[in-house]
Amino acid sequence: MTSLPLISVTDGDGATARRSSMPPRHLADLDLAGRRSAVSDLGEQAFRATQLSTHYFGRLERDPAGMTDIPAAARERLTEQLLPKLLTPVRELACDDGETRKALWRLHDGSLVESVLMGYGDRVTVCISSQAGCGMACPFCATGQAGLTRNLSTAEIVDQVVYLAGVAQSGVMGGEARRLSNVVFMGMGEPLANYNRVIAAVRRLTSPAPEGLGLSQRHITVSTVGLVPAMRKLAEEDLSVTLALSLHAPDDDLRDELVPVNQRWKVAEVLDAAWAYAARTGRRVSIEYAMIRDVNDQPWRADLLGRLLAGRLAHVNLIPLNPTPGSKWDASPKPVEREFVRRLRAAGVATTVRDTRGREIDGACGQLAASEVEG
Ligand code: SAH
Repeated sequence: MTSLPLISVTDGDGATARRSSMPPRHLADLDLAGRRSAVSDLGEQAFRATQLSTHYFGRLERDPAGMTDIPAAARERLTEQLLPKLLTPVRELACDDGETRKALWRLHDGSLVESVLMGYGDRVTVCISSQAGCGMACPFCATGQAGLTRNLSTAEIVDQVVYLAGVAQSGVMGGEARRLSNVVFMGMGEPLANYNRVIAAVRRLTSPAPEGLGLSQRHITVSTVGLVPAMRKLAEEDLSVTLALSLHAPDDDLRDELVPVNQRWKVAEVLDAAWAYAARTGRRVSIEYAMIRDVNDQPWRADLLGRLLAGRLAHVNLIPLNPTPGSKWDASPKPVEREFVRRLRAAGVATTVRDTRGREIDGACGQLAASEVEG
């Protein structure tokens, strides 16, 4: 596999550097109590924390000029200290008549990450990144090829959602204001490898305004390659988020190659952890399976997968493989895909095929690589 220089930051002197560090503190890093004490520490009255939070989470307002209920001097100090600019938009691409939009952001240290906004009827979903790059090295995923730069902070995760909720509200999708309803942690990174910040982000996204964005926990999906201890911990968080498990192969031989972390936690262990999550939360686990021609799409693998999942609180989401730079792999032909679906359903396993939203703008699953070079 060739490794592509997907994330490179050019220094002032022209040398390529990979500096990376966590960003300044932002109000979305803190719960409301934490914000109140941060505001007091700045010598302002604690209720200003609620005002700031109402602007940010309730009104999706990030411009201090729009926060006229806070006196100018306090506003300046508070926004400088608690609303630093975390995401600088580098590029926004749209397709599907504006219903799919990919945003590329630069973070304070020059790292690049992407998010994708997708409208489907009355549902508006944002797919967000939890890390700059990814350390999981799955060979069919563009993000995996670049390696990990760093974890995102809680606020860097939350701010992608708040920003794009504002974009949806502004009327650019189909000419009308749309309300963001769903969040999927399926952008760049392995969310469970940045566990504490991701959990804090989920809490911010689901706490009612002004503490948070007030989304339903059920409308949040956390996707993982299968970090078993973290999956077990997630089950104990008392959150009803949907867990997606990127399985991609029902047998260890192949999964060791497609999802290298399988060398540590095998298919049987990872499925056990998924069933423990389902039992604890009552939530159906989504089994993600990229359909790769002649690699994992054989009828016998469908049958094996069907046996592993039959009778479980699970459904399968097949993802036609999206092309990534330098990859030798291809999506399965449609008749092969249909036969795979037929066999899973015959085994009693609910199965859907995901649409390939965002392919033209490299915004589909596995295509997020944060390259600044125009494609
Ligand atoms: N690291 C997490 C979340 C990010 S990926 C995870 O792996 O679950 C989101 C989904 O896209 C995962 O199911 C991933 O396996 C899948 N994916 C990655 N590359 C893909 C590609 N080239 N085509 C289709 N799906 C892909």
